[in-house]
Amino acid sequence: MSRLALGIDIGGTKVAAVLLNREGVVLGRARGPVAAQGNGAGLGSIFRVVDTVLQGHLEARRSLVGIGAGAPGSIDWRGGVLNGAANLTWQHLPLAAALSERYGVPALLDNDVNVAAWGERCFGAGTGAPAGEGPRGLPVGAPAGVPGLPEENVVFLTAGTGIGAGLIEAGRIVRGRGGAGEIGHIPLFPDGPPCRCGMIGCLEARASGPALARAGQGAAAAGETPGLLALAGGDPQEVTAPLVIRAAVEGDAGAARLLDQEGYYLALAVLIAGRLLDPARVVLGGGLAEAGTPLFQAVWTNLARLRPRGPAPSSYVVPASLGPDAGAIGGAALIFYPEPGFLEAGLIAPA
Ligand SMILES: [Zn+2]
Repeated sequence: MSRLALGIDIGGTKVAAVLLNREGVVLGRARGPVAAQGNGAGLGSIFRVVDTVLQGHLEARRSLVGIGAGAPGSIDWRGGVLNGAANLTWQHLPLAAALSERYGVPALLDNDVNVAAWGERCFGAGTGAPAGEGPRGLPVGAPAGVPGLPEENVVFLTAGTGIGAGLIEAGRIVRGRGGAGEIGHIPLFPDGPPCRCGMIGCLEARASGPALARAGQGAAAAGETPGLLALAGGDPQEVTAPLVIRAAVEGDAGAARLLDQEGYYLALAVLIAGRLLDPARVVLGGGLAEAGTPLFQAVWTNLARLRPRGPAPSSYVVPASLGPDAGAIGGAALIFYPEPGFLEAGLIAPA
């Protein structure tokens, strides 16, 4: 009987879960709304999604060996406790213990970006093979740099509602005291806008999806982007980040400038991560990265401009390959290929 793991990705508005085998094949998935009000309702909304996945697979209960979850906000990963997040009113929710008790298997919890990074490393674009061609599910701890095996040094950069990074160094997640990787909250622009974190001019305040949408709205209202305005049905307020990228691809010069600027911002994030950790690859994911080639082209072009003597940017900045499933798959990956921090804390036994 094959062993199965369950991965859970908790977002600000929805919960996703997947049932995965050791080879990284998704055998079942479910999604549902997250109840933001109160610990009890929050747990109930997570249980409902997990129950849905398990009910779809008769063997799942008997074959389940563990559950891994990722969640936003402040996480006590050793204690498996979700301390709180901006969009959730949960307070000190002992999520790992609750999952473990209900389903009778070990359960792990970490920051959502760290978990997605681990997923890409074990089963996605961090496996060291050319993007999209990597064999999936090879053991962590295998020799570094061999095509198809998980890279020891990978940065997962996520660009969407926020800008964040999951840092994997020498085969382990870099957490600091718990909050490492908040690359979006490095203040790079002294004259930049206020950021939701309370600082001024953070990278995220200019480079996030909502920031790109705002820039597009301003340009459209100022008459600088006629093609973009047309795509938005003539209403500048209807401009979104994906529309800016589409207008740029379709030849709107103003939108193309905004896309180039976005590429510059993300190139800065890549360079900062690169200078600090010297990873073999930077895997770029998140909502903005889903735009695909036009966005990557903008990042690569700006990287080549900023660092003319560096390696070809497309050789080390690669698209995430697990898409919206990265977080949930990463949770399950934590069970099959435990991250050393969890092993040392005695939260799970070696696979
Ligand atoms: Zn900030």
